[in-house]
Amino acid sequence: MVKKMTIAIDGPSGSGKSTLGKALAQRLGLLYIDSGAVYRAIACKVIDSGASMEDRPAIIDAARKGNISLEGPPDRLTVLLDGRDVTQRIRLPDATSASSIVAAIPEVRDAVVEKLRRMSDAGAVVMDGRDIGTRVFPDARVKLFLDASLEARARRRSQEESERGRLVAIEEVEREIAERDSRDTGRAATPLVMASDAILIDTTELTVEALLEHALEIVERHG
Ligand code: C5P
Repeated sequence: MVKKMTIAIDGPSGSGKSTLGKALAQRLGLLYIDSGAVYRAIACKVIDSGASMEDRPAIIDAARKGNISLEGPPDRLTVLLDGRDVTQRIRLPDATSASSIVAAIPEVRDAVVEKLRRMSDAGAVVMDGRDIGTRVFPDARVKLFLDASLEARARRRSQEESERGRLVAIEEVEREIAERDSRDTGRAATPLVMASDAILIDTTELTVEALLEHALEIVERHG
């Protein structure tokens, strides 16, 4: 049996993971799974229930019981939490900040890994996140690790925010990203690290088109 195609894309926020993941999924006809959306949805479930971000049992319960699904094509992905459309909600600043707090809890990670593997049962996937190549799919056919300067990453995030109608000073975005980077790389449970067999791509100076072409060449070599 031919092993199904799995492409794992990891890296810090703003490095271009989701842009590349969606483009690859569209080009190759694969399912796109945004694993960060799952952590964000759990964060929303906790916030909306009124529980505190220090209430570990409530957070673990939300991770285990939350019914989270991703639907639709990669460029119009809808995130459902317990049947409610939270696609916009999960991008708000409170959910963004809380996502890396819930993601540091080992039991939450275990529950999410299980959900992600179940979501990808359906077929060949491109999945992006922080631990896809190291934990969720250690046997992925292709592992990419994207990185870029903090300045470039903040510029992209700030651009995305303004497209959503929120004007945020670049310094503020830099601060928020640096804080999440430090939580994501500093946590004990599967911190953000590059898998030893991943291919590093520095996207600081790359256009989306150049990044996609480069990634497609890598995928072809590993196909
Ligand atoms: O990718 P995104 O920025 O939407 O992810 C939000 C947060 O979820 C990250 O800052 C990180 O703390 C967490 N995350 C994670 N592991 C993943 C995906 C996201 O810890 N695979």
